[in-house]
Amino acid sequence: MYSPQKALQIILNQTSFLALEKISFLDSFGRTLAEDIKATGDLPPFDRSSMDGAALRNADIRGADVNNPVTLKLVGTIAAGDVPRKALKKGEAMKIMTGAMIPKGADSVLPKEQFLPNGKNLNIHKSTHPGDFIRFKGEDVKKGQPILGKGMEITSGVVSLLATLGLSKVAVSRRPRVAILVTGDELIDIKGAMTLGKVRSSNQYSLFAQVQQAGGEPVLLGIAKDIRSQIEKKIRKGLKYDVLLISGGVSVGDFDLVPEILKKFKFKFFVEKVSIQPGKPLIFAKKEKTFVFGLPGNPVSTMVSFYKFVRPFLLKMSGRKEIFLKKASAILDEDIKINGQRLKVMRGIVSEDKGQLRVRLTSHQGSGNVISMAKANCLFEIPAGIENLRKGQTIEIQYLP
Ligand code: AMP
Ligand code: MG
Repeated sequence: MYSPQKALQIILNQTSFLALEKISFLDSFGRTLAEDIKATGDLPPFDRSSMDGAALRNADIRGADVNNPVTLKLVGTIAAGDVPRKALKKGEAMKIMTGAMIPKGADSVLPKEQFLPNGKNLNIHKSTHPGDFIRFKGEDVKKGQPILGKGMEITSGVVSLLATLGLSKVAVSRRPRVAILVTGDELIDIKGAMTLGKVRSSNQYSLFAQVQQAGGEPVLLGIAKDIRSQIEKKIRKGLKYDVLLISGGVSVGDFDLVPEILKKFKFKFFVEKVSIQPGKPLIFAKKEKTFVFGLPGNPVSTMVSFYKFVRPFLLKMSGRKEIFLKKASAILDEDIKINGQRLKVMRGIVSEDKGQLRVRLTSHQGSGNVISMAKANCLFEIPAGIENLRKGQTIEIQYLP
């Protein structure tokens, strides 16, 4: 049995990387960037006004105020998109719109609120400093400067930058294709009639959502009963994918057939058990190009094992730089007593109160209690050996994505 850190290390060390593909930037949201991108030009591309106002020469209006207004000759108006046709001379001003090009000769912009039009003149009642309200060429980014790197998540901000640079195609890593198989005689699928003693199967659907959220392409292989031939047939199908997730049947019960079938199929085993609760029966194995994760069948165990081991693996496969859940410190809002034999993963609700993050448990923490997962917005871990946490203590939480 491995510690969770050791198991994670083994899993991540086995990762193979997915090929890249060029796609339209419009389809790239949420994907992982697979190329380093340099600025195709300066940003801004020319000196421009950041206000609606007047472009002028600072020297002409030095000391202007309400009691000593200065009059400048209005010699034109520059709209966004215009190229000013003449340079500004001493004693002159031009009206200018936000984003419009600064005319030669001007060195500052005075916002519209600080002057009054007066026929063919402007009465200025406020002074400027050179450079006021001008965004200079290359001030944000210089042409050729590295701006986006391999392994970044493509956020809406990145989409905006790609559009600004005129990059309509972008290289991203291919999505990992992930087959999902659930096993168990007791399982009834979503539309099936429930009968006494049966269990509504949810794991293929929680995994489906989790795979999507981790940037993967999930494919449902359906439910296999605890019958060798059924499981074998579906595992063979699973070998066509990058990753196969199998929920249930991976432990030591009489009907837990998955480990022996994987061995019969000559999967190479890297991890078989992990000292974690929930989630002890975890299998990580490989055959040819397909990685398989065997996940315990209890709904919370399956989901927690996914977050802890499968999600970072899928993200790493995609070349993502940040592969772990985001962390924060929070104050615990209740006492917790547990048996501290294994690393414990708790489901929590974190919220802000007077500038402090506080965290409490969702309802009871049984590994079959789906509600504890549905309500949670974070996980937190209690290391093996610790049996009591006290209200008021600061702990580290991991935000659920
Ligand atoms: P197992 O890991 O096969 O021993 O399953 C443990 C328990 O998890 C089972 O008794 C079921 O109650 C539950 N379980 C297994 N598979 C699923 C599933 N696909 N959806 C919901 N619950 C499940
Ligand atoms: Mg089972």
